[in-house]
Amino acid sequence: MKDSCFNEFDPSALSVEDALNEILSSITTKKSYEIVKIKDAYNRILAKDIKARKDIPNYKNSAMDGYAVNINHTSKEYVFKNIGESFAGHPFKGKVKPNEAIKVMTGALVPESCNAVIMQEMVEEKNNLIFIKSRVAKNQNIRFPGEDIKKNDLVLRKGKEINEIDIGILASLGQSSVHVQTRPTIGYFSTGDELVSVGKSIKKSQVYDSNRYLLHGLLQKYPAKIKDYGVVKDNMSSIIRKLKIASNECDLLLTTGGVSVGDADFVKGALDKLGKINFWKIAVKPGRPLAYGKINKCLFFGLPGNPVSVVVTFNLFVSAAIKKITGQSIKNLLSLSAKLESDIKKRKGRKEYKRGLLKTKNGKLFVKCLASQGSNILSSLLNANCYIELDENIDKIHKGSLVKIIPFELEGEYYD
Ligand code: AMP
Ligand code: MG
Repeated sequence: MKDSCFNEFDPSALSVEDALNEILSSITTKKSYEIVKIKDAYNRILAKDIKARKDIPNYKNSAMDGYAVNINHTSKEYVFKNIGESFAGHPFKGKVKPNEAIKVMTGALVPESCNAVIMQEMVEEKNNLIFIKSRVAKNQNIRFPGEDIKKNDLVLRKGKEINEIDIGILASLGQSSVHVQTRPTIGYFSTGDELVSVGKSIKKSQVYDSNRYLLHGLLQKYPAKIKDYGVVKDNMSSIIRKLKIASNECDLLLTTGGVSVGDADFVKGALDKLGKINFWKIAVKPGRPLAYGKINKCLFFGLPGNPVSVVVTFNLFVSAAIKKITGQSIKNLLSLSAKLESDIKKRKGRKEYKRGLLKTKNGKLFVKCLASQGSNILSSLLNANCYIELDENIDKIHKGSLVKIIPFELEGEYYD
């Protein structure tokens, strides 16, 4: 019997978790790094731990514009003699004796002899004397050395994707450059005789190749050199030829289409000839026909042809593989629980990622399962803001049940 991936329950299909484990355990992280200026480090993967060489801040300073005082906290009435000033970058060099004060600006050095800063607005000044009516607490409005980061603290961990906060932290540590993992080269091509590249006209029976653009967009999130190898026709020799060229130039190669068991599906056969194939069926919808393997040193994913399956399998598997290649820490996708707004039917035996619309009502989360769930309906992703993740052993879920949600974006309000 011909191997089929369209039986509804396929005992030889791998679970999502097993597939992911198999992928991750087959990948060794690249050990090469480069040094880049911190301004160029955004989105790169940190290759070495960052420890603080100094306290931040490295001196006692004022949190307010006001007066730094040497105060006896037991006294009831406060009168101080104003003896000088300390501005940011221009410290007061003398000693402040008991019942003396100096004018200080935010960020200015507070002398060791001072034990509080009083806000400018709380003070009356007359003939170089400062009067304070309110109570003064010990150490108020003083920022202490190491309050932000302590010397020798592990500040940023190797494997972290560097964001704008990290760049700010690196700058506050005085670091002008940073060790980052080298960017892997990731290539892709589409397969299909029906595909036409954008900008050309199409006949009935042809479709525009959207997958290469989807992949290009999906890959933008990762620090990678991206190579587009175009569209390849559905024939064994063309696919083999392109796989040979691309696998020589890439660390990771992605193809879409031609990975199923139809008469025009040659990707698996080509991979069998050129390299090693790890598996090709996963108990997931969308995205079940999926090939994973290696051509020499190049990792290979043969993704399904349907655009929604491309996005889902990319999010589930390719993204984790890219992270492993560059040593990036792999975290679970953040999931939430939301109340289902209508019944859902599904078959047992595979995990499903339905496209949903998550909303908040009175602070509670509700999710609507979108009507069009075909893996060819790319607009289902356009109109969705989350996946509804349904486990293998689930079949029917009733309106009002709580379901697991994986939001696409965490920022901003959901539609109300
Ligand atoms: P296949 O896996 O090659 O049988 O393709 C499955 C479905 O996805 C078919 O309807 C294809 O026309 C469609 N498809 C395959 N590749 C692409 C692509 N690059 N862009 C848009 N649709 C595609
Ligand atoms: Mg095809």
